[in-house]
Amino acid sequence: MTRKRASRAKQTHKAINFPPSPLDENLTDATVRGFAEDIQISNFIESACTVCGLLAYKSDMSPLADANIDSTLLIPDVPVTRAERQATTDPIRPLLGPVLLPGCDDICKTCLEELSEGKLPPDSLANGLWIGEVPPVLQDLSWTEKMLISRVKHNICTVKVHVSGMSKMKANVVSHSLPMPKIYHALPPPRDDLDEVLAFMYIGPNVPTHKEFKRTPMLVRRNKVKEALEWLKLNHEDYADLEISYENLDAYPEDEPPVVVNYTMSMATNKDSEATAVNDTEEDEGVEDGDCPFVVHGLTGTYLEHLGKVRPYEITARAVEHFKSQDVPLAVPVWVWWT
Ligand SMILES: [Zn+2]
Repeated sequence: MTRKRASRAKQTHKAINFPPSPLDENLTDATVRGFAEDIQISNFIESACTVCGLLAYKSDMSPLADANIDSTLLIPDVPVTRAERQATTDPIRPLLGPVLLPGCDDICKTCLEELSEGKLPPDSLANGLWIGEVPPVLQDLSWTEKMLISRVKHNICTVKVHVSGMSKMKANVVSHSLPMPKIYHALPPPRDDLDEVLAFMYIGPNVPTHKEFKRTPMLVRRNKVKEALEWLKLNHEDYADLEISYENLDAYPEDEPPVVVNYTMSMATNKDSEATAVNDTEEDEGVEDGDCPFVVHGLTGTYLEHLGKVRPYEITARAVEHFKSQDVPLAVPVWVWWT
């Protein structure tokens, strides 16, 4: 008999006291104290590492100021940062000093170990991963505005806004990749080009007006797009040779979506019965006021493989057909991504 089996046999024959004696006060105290210590909030708080920008438990991090490391390791030989430029006359220059995440003072265990050994952590911002802070001009862009400032169009998107008979609005988009991405030398693209990559369906009890469009992610604010493109041209090396077409920009309306609106009248609920849980008793989904909730679903290669020989174009075509007619049965489970 091996030693392991012998020990198991020994355990089996150990006398067991049953029923066990009741908990004494000391053991109760130790158990409660141990549990309380384990669920201390400090054990769960996460913070970003100033070197790599990744989230880690704060309890596993230490202040960078106390770390015994060579900070010159975080100054790359080839500049990876870029100071913000306000005008074309401003010089292009990197930020001075080590590449760190602003507003964070702690370093994670992994980065500390690598730097202590005199190595640059592979995930560090100094290792070519710096992208800088997102400036205000690039924040709060709508879905359509983001499409207008993108130099490469990878996807075809079909946006569906569904308003129920009780005026609750929700929106979602299904997108899949283009076989051949489109690259633009001038932005925003001509308005007609958008029809090739973006489709918009509106289902609701009334023909949509500016009030409804304003709640969807489909409107374009010309000034916002202009400021974003001008900032990118000044500060992003991939946009340096971009031509900003103010003529194209002026062609975009501000009070309606830039693509054809496929409107279907419906007084019915905007819930998808196939995707509703049996215990879900709400009549409609979405909100009555303010920006409508917007969900983005992507169809990637893995998902598409499950659909057999159905091509992405067919999926979009069938989805469009379905939402126009409301009762055409689908041969492929497009619902999975629409809900
Ligand atoms: Zn780190």
